[in-house]
Amino acid sequence: MKIERLSALQSNYIFVLISSAGDGAVVIDPGQADPVLRRLGELELPLTAIWHTHHHHDHIGGDRQLLARYPNARVFGSAHDAERIPTLTDFVAEGDSLTVGDRTAVVMEVPGHTLGHVAYYFPPALDAAPDEAVGAGAFGDLFCGDTLFSAGCGRLFEGTPVQMVRSLDKFRQLPNNTRIWCAHEYTESNLNFACSIVPDDPDVIRYRREIQKRRQRREATLPTCLATEKEINLFLRWDDPQVQQAMGTPDDPVRTFARLRGRKDLF
Ligand SMILES: [Zn+2]
Repeated sequence: MKIERLSALQSNYIFVLISSAGDGAVVIDPGQADPVLRRLGELELPLTAIWHTHHHHDHIGGDRQLLARYPNARVFGSAHDAERIPTLTDFVAEGDSLTVGDRTAVVMEVPGHTLGHVAYYFPPALDAAPDEAVGAGAFGDLFCGDTLFSAGCGRLFEGTPVQMVRSLDKFRQLPNNTRIWCAHEYTESNLNFACSIVPDDPDVIRYRREIQKRRQRREATLPTCLATEKEINLFLRWDDPQVQQAMGTPDDPVRTFARLRGRKDLF
């Protein structure tokens, strides 16, 4: 399986998963149809399925146009979103498996940004050759929608801080080398926020400098990697005494997270 990242709308990324069997492609969260139609045309591949992480318009806006061109494509998402994503044909829930050629993703329910939010996780392929590192297989790949961003996390539109911490903690349990394909290019502004909270944190400062350079070159900052996020993402550090102290909530992980999220909403 190959993974491609397409830019869409203001800051969205749409991900195209190309089966190694060469029989089709799956697209995750097509907020816009045009970039997907263009790429599938270049690849001369049909769209076999759309996978949705949640119901927000910038993740589902391309469905109707894509289905007009590929009427046989299945559309997967949470049953919570049945009404708000009218194009859904198949409901997914925690632990379900979805395949792309010979690779299988596991569905993770991760409420917080929205109540029905799901993520799709491909464990590393056991037989992956080292040269597949640039494609897919050597590492696990996580498609997390708007739950986790590099150096940030999604706004709590529907869920509670307790739910979101539990969801993000599921991600923290994945292997450290998991590649994380977030749905928005927010990394630089998230790091600006992080620097305002922990201005002396050497990991955050170093990574911000690196990301600023990459953005000046107009490079994407995704995928990111879980090991990096554990260092520089304050929204995964609710149990870190430094972050707890900055929030004035020692020994209280959930309130630390909630305050941090509240501060980010105002940033
Ligand atoms: Zn969203």
